[in-house]
Amino acid sequence: MPVNALNPLANSASPAADSPAAPNNAVPAAHVSLSAKLDPAAAEPKATPPAAGPDPELWAELQAASAALESAAPWEILTWTAQRFGAGFAVATAFGAEGMLIIHWLAKHAPQTPIFNLETGYQFPETLAMVDRVRQRYGIEIELVRPELPVPLYEQLHGGPVYSHSPDQCCRDRKLVPLRRRLEGVTAWASAIRRDQSPDRSVVPIVGWDRKFGLVKVSPLANWTKRQVWQTIVAENVPYNPLHDQGYPSIGCQPCTRCVLAGEDERSGRWAGSKKTECGLHSQD
Ligand code: SF4
Repeated sequence: MPVNALNPLANSASPAADSPAAPNNAVPAAHVSLSAKLDPAAAEPKATPPAAGPDPELWAELQAASAALESAAPWEILTWTAQRFGAGFAVATAFGAEGMLIIHWLAKHAPQTPIFNLETGYQFPETLAMVDRVRQRYGIEIELVRPELPVPLYEQLHGGPVYSHSPDQCCRDRKLVPLRRRLEGVTAWASAIRRDQSPDRSVVPIVGWDRKFGLVKVSPLANWTKRQVWQTIVAENVPYNPLHDQGYPSIGCQPCTRCVLAGEDERSGRWAGSKKTECGLHSQD
């Protein structure tokens, strides 16, 4: 696989053509003033919050915020979230391309935000090496959140690798359970998902309610394209997982991720050959 084969900039005649915000036009946090737009009365809230949702007042605020931030730059969305939720805001990262941009912007606009990685024990060495690269570049410490059982004991108790026959259970044990534990006390978190990644992700709001975890969930990159992401990474020299240059556009655990072929969907290398498409962090089931 040629280097950068999956980097859309490599095949782009006009990299900036669909970018709504040039990377170097980053708005300093002090210039972000969205509070005037976030009047809940200005929104057209649905009659009632979703089941297991927030109280009606917060629901109205979230809807107003989502509408006001729909065309905001991702770093403005992150800045608003950090200001609005303060110490209750935390970010999970898997060090994907989009996740690295979120770290890049948080380092500039909200460096106090806790960032953690779900260290399942099955991640690629290249992914784990990103912890040091983030520390060196931004001076930010990434917290590794681990399951209760280390991999050898977990596999011993289950008669071998659980991912090979029950990936949902493995994701639940190695990701979701530790995540729930880490999210205690957290009121808002951010996802790195883009609407153009999959049908499941196409309707994600900028600011919404994560009913699975009972949290506010912001998706600052929802409106961005893959090309915009890579354009900014290159322009701002953001560190990224070297596996992206080896045919892995989407990187999860090593046993459940393969490189993709030209023309394949960017997430087709995740749980390839099975019906599973999400680890469960960002689905609402
Ligand atoms: S992605 Fe695979 S190895 Fe990782 S937790 Fe899920 S099933 Fe287990």
